[in-house]
Amino acid sequence: MTKPEKLIVDGKRLDGRGLNELRPIRFKAGVLKRADGSCYLEFGGNKVMAAVYGPREVHPRHLQNASRAIVRYRYNMAAFSVEERKRPGPDRRSIEISKVSREALESVIMQELYPRSAIDIFVEILQADAGTRVAGINAASVALADAGIPMRCLVSACAVGKVDGELVLDLNKDEDNYGQADLPVAMNQFGEITLCQMDGHMTEEEFGRALDMAIEGCKKLHQMQRQALIEKYGEMVSPAEEAH
Ligand code: ADP
Repeated sequence: MTKPEKLIVDGKRLDGRGLNELRPIRFKAGVLKRADGSCYLEFGGNKVMAAVYGPREVHPRHLQNASRAIVRYRYNMAAFSVEERKRPGPDRRSIEISKVSREALESVIMQELYPRSAIDIFVEILQADAGTRVAGINAASVALADAGIPMRCLVSACAVGKVDGELVLDLNKDEDNYGQADLPVAMNQFGEITLCQMDGHMTEEEFGRALDMAIEGCKKLHQMQRQALIEKYGEMVSPAEEAH
């Protein structure tokens, strides 16, 4: 799409959303048979699959940590995920996203319970439409829970951007291309920010407001993640509970 004259008209965005509205989001936990945990997520036009393996033996062995599990995160964009074919394999961008996403999740994983082992998280972007790193973190968090990895809480993520001089929640692709700033944020349930990056420019006052909007967005995502886990596990009643 060529640059539209305006991205916000009468308080509405070109895709019809209000400034503070997320795109349609759908989580499905436990979709892959061979992974220990998984989650498929549609986040606007993004389609993301997360798979978790572990805790499992570490290869190569020298990466083992005697006191805790190591966490590995691989973010990968499929060749067909973007308009022009993406060259397969890691590049600088995917290496950076893998690192910051791992850091966003690591602090909630009880790594100390599994010394000498590895927890591997794979995030495959099947279709990309801006906000893939936050989509990946949301899906990975549900996949970790689905794998039964002990966690202190879930991690939720969303981005806030600046478009036509206004702050908007959850940028779509056109807003990402033609906007003035993009601020992806991840937050755990204790309200601790575990990822905060920024492209572009905002004033200090705008940054404060953007962060508040991102926090509210993360709270909504947390409810959806929780719901996805309840959908899969909610009906499971333990024999003890059934006896009552
Ligand atoms: P995020 O997906 O987390 O917003 P970026 O800001 O780096 O990360 O990317 C924004 C969007 O640009 C992506 O979601 C994707 O739609 C598009 N994009 C990223 N890398 C490529 C690429 N190699 N080729 C085409 N489009 C890309």
